[in-house]
Amino acid sequence: MNRDKCPNCGEIARIELIGPTIDREVECAICGTFRVTEDLLFRLEDPKELANKRWILSGRLRNIAADKPVLLTTENIDKFLDQSGIPQTVNDKIDMLLSYIEKRSKFAGDKVRINSIMDYPVVYSRNSSEFEYIINILYDNKLIDGYRSKERSTDYLLTYKGYNRLSDITHRKIESDKVFVAMWFDPKMDEAWKTGFKQAIEDERIGLRAIRVDKEQFTEKICDKIEAEIPKCRFLIADVTRFRSGVFYEAGIAKGLGLEVIWTCSKEWEKKISKHFDTRQYPHILWDSPEDLKEQLITKIEALRLTSVNY
Ligand SMILES: [Zn+2]
Repeated sequence: MNRDKCPNCGEIARIELIGPTIDREVECAICGTFRVTEDLLFRLEDPKELANKRWILSGRLRNIAADKPVLLTTENIDKFLDQSGIPQTVNDKIDMLLSYIEKRSKFAGDKVRINSIMDYPVVYSRNSSEFEYIINILYDNKLIDGYRSKERSTDYLLTYKGYNRLSDITHRKIESDKVFVAMWFDPKMDEAWKTGFKQAIEDERIGLRAIRVDKEQFTEKICDKIEAEIPKCRFLIADVTRFRSGVFYEAGIAKGLGLEVIWTCSKEWEKKISKHFDTRQYPHILWDSPEDLKEQLITKIEALRLTSVNY
């Protein structure tokens, strides 16, 4: 057993025991600094564990473990591997890299050193080649300027064009306490709304506000209201119980804006939807009662807060 290798990416790392526990602290140039329990450490030594997901973990760790190293355990590891909030498209990764450079610049025009061999997880690239591809797009489009430094490092600064693109993104994002709930409007769903969605979102552990546009009919006026309301929300919950077209419409708007969408569905309806419907690629929270919905939603939102770049 080699203790000098990062248990996640396998590269050379510094590993120290954190007394009086048997947890270890890992300092890896690729994954950053994090802590890991002995149980999980043993699990990770098997290369089959988390196969094809280790890049997600590296990305998470580089993106969240800034001040205080997180402790990874066998219980919480799945939270860190949840795909929500991971930049999906090349454009998402471009924006993420721009904002990475900006956050690390002490002043406008400051240079930030990036090493593609070590820093590729900061935008959830799978390897340094993908990362270099993203960097080259930024460079070729004059969003950044670069100055070769030593050992495959380059010092980058944001150009005026880069700052402009960044300010477009920040204007799109609003620090909002509203959560849009897209759902079937029917008296049968009243309890799910009151006890499930609303109580979860407004629970003291979450502290946000639940919003819904209270009409089933999609008149032009309602559409305007929805289109105005969704961009003001932090994320959206789409409950697909009853398979209402309005729910997909609203979720589509949110997705287009880069907002997170949490999918939910009553267990009763799950079988019916799983056949003919294109959101199967997203995991759904399946609930059997409003109370169950509430608890599952709180857990999900807490995970989102911890892991999503878009939260
Ligand atoms: Zn590592």
